[in-house]
Amino acid sequence: MPRDYYEILGVSKDATADDIKKAYRRLAREHHPDVSSDPKEVAEEKFKEISEAYEVLSDDGKRKTYDQHGHAGVNQQFGGGGFSWNDFTHFDDIRDIFGGSGGSIFDMFFGGGGRRPRNAPTQGESLRYDVRISLEEVLTGRTEEIQVPKTSSCHDCRGTGGKDGKVEVCSQCDGAGQIQMVRNSPFGRIASVTDCPKCSGSGKTYKERCIKCRGSGRVSKNSTVSVTIPKGIEDGTRLRMQGEGDAGYNGGPSGDLYVVVQVKEHKQFEREGINLWAEILTTYPRLVLGGTEEVATLEGETAKVTISPGTQVGAVLRIQGKGLPKFRGGTRGDLFLKVKIDVPTKVSEEDKEYLRKLDDKAGSSKKAKGLFKK
Ligand SMILES: [Zn+2]
Ligand SMILES: [Zn+2]
Repeated sequence: MPRDYYEILGVSKDATADDIKKAYRRLAREHHPDVSSDPKEVAEEKFKEISEAYEVLSDDGKRKTYDQHGHAGVNQQFGGGGFSWNDFTHFDDIRDIFGGSGGSIFDMFFGGGGRRPRNAPTQGESLRYDVRISLEEVLTGRTEEIQVPKTSSCHDCRGTGGKDGKVEVCSQCDGAGQIQMVRNSPFGRIASVTDCPKCSGSGKTYKERCIKCRGSGRVSKNSTVSVTIPKGIEDGTRLRMQGEGDAGYNGGPSGDLYVVVQVKEHKQFEREGINLWAEILTTYPRLVLGGTEEVATLEGETAKVTISPGTQVGAVLRIQGKGLPKFRGGTRGDLFLKVKIDVPTKVSEEDKEYLRKLDDKAGSSKKAKGLFKK
């Protein structure tokens, strides 16, 4: 007993024509023998079942007969022989079923449409190279010669793969690199495009292959590339070196080389955009009385900083123009210095005496402040 047509399509008895069409399209896509994961015979049987159900339910007359008389009613209309692929007219819109925007089902499953033949000019792969630089080098910029292991076109055979560059047009595909295969299937003849087996899709053959590249037309070698790392570069910046990647295929352009620049951390300075931050150590008397302090800048020079009387610990001092340059040069940011006290750990007896006196005084003035507040 054949299965119920409504059940096969997974729709209810009162499904609209549109529901039926949608269900059929979904199932047809899923169970098409050329895409189904089932064994061929099973897939074909399933597909036939789905198609038969649709054939009947999509036709108002046949559907009515089926609703009244079941399978017996419609089987007669199929001339007693049941379903035959040749009767099946709905395959006219198969391109419709498979999402067709002009391409045929064969294009979609066998890659005829969008696929490029293997011998089409194709860009080579892009490469990445990491460079680590110091913060000092962000200040000055740097030019670096790097050794990039990349694939280049073989010099010996001029990239052809044939000895001394001697190649012939493939006789099987006439240089196209692809051939059309036609086979019979339940839907009729199916044409598919595949890479030519004789030339593996290259469109060319050679009598003797190039020894150096073993016929591939490509060799791996280290290339020296000069990279200019501009001033003011940020950590993680990617510099694109056009055409410095792997060689292209079949005369296509080379890929690009991406140099990724990482900036190492610095012991003294912390970066904040174009500004630098550091600490400045001074003494308690100098904070109280005011004075000057010396500090090393990123370029290794000494800069003088004025400390005004009464400067607090944690205050921020600024030296203009001693930060980093803007990307690719230009004005420089500033150097910010956070004030810290250099607390001596070895103190002479004499100094201790001074400090005790100082402490007594500081203590009494604190008390006095407290009293006034009350
Ligand atoms: Zn060929
Ligand atoms: Zn070669």
